[in-house]
Amino acid sequence: MTGHKTPPHHAGPLVIQPLRRRQCAECRRGPLPLLVLEEGAPRCLDCADLGHLVFLPRGDTALTRRSREESGLSAVVVRFNRRQGRYERQGVLVEEAGLARAEERCLADAEARRRRRTRDARRRAEEDLRFTEAFAREIRRLLPGCPADRAEAIAAHASVRGSGRVGRSAAGRALSERAVISAVVAAVRHVDTSYDQLLMSGVARHEARRRIAGAVDARLREWATEAEAGVGPGAGAGPGPSLEAAAEAEAGAEAEAEVDTRDDAGAGAV
Ligand SMILES: [Zn+2]
Repeated sequence: MTGHKTPPHHAGPLVIQPLRRRQCAECRRGPLPLLVLEEGAPRCLDCADLGHLVFLPRGDTALTRRSREESGLSAVVVRFNRRQGRYERQGVLVEEAGLARAEERCLADAEARRRRRTRDARRRAEEDLRFTEAFAREIRRLLPGCPADRAEAIAAHASVRGSGRVGRSAAGRALSERAVISAVVAAVRHVDTSYDQLLMSGVARHEARRRIAGAVDARLREWATEAEAGVGPGAGAGPGPSLEAAAEAEAGAEAEAEVDTRDDAGAGAV
């Protein structure tokens, strides 16, 4: 807020909120809530030809600025602050129609911002959806035996925006084989093995991972094969390229995610 030793004179008439009881020098009305000083004598707003203006308290900068822009006649309202020893701005007097137009402009801005936010949110949702679909397709390409609903769930989980999970990492966005397999391994660990129970029963994470490594490998080997080709583990098929990638990804993910990787990386390899 700007303060002045004397009432500031700029931009139209200056209106004062008096600290003492004052009467209009012309019509004798009083006490006046607002007055204009003309040659040192107080006048009410009606006598000063400002009676048609409406008061807009300070606080909304954009609305204030626009109200004055939209008003042919406007006035600044000040009050003397005794403690500070200066006049302080309280608000403005503006034309009612000008205030209405200013409010419309501010509302239009708010509405435009709201519409843009909605558009942005919709675009992000579409991006997320496309990303999740691409992720799920990639899972099924690498692991054709992975059930569609599992692939979708894994992809959705991995691509939750802002989660920092593998799906949102740079590698995940690029749908690198390793990132996709890492997401699958993480899901398999929690859904298809006793990993979570082991953790809950107090088994250390590295030990828990070591114990379930075989189950994870078995599930990946199963999914690496077309569902029609061979059902279940032990179908005898050697690890295909996808499974090799899986093993690599597993080891790689461990190496990335952990300080002490040796046990896990070894356990993760086929
Ligand atoms: Zn008067």
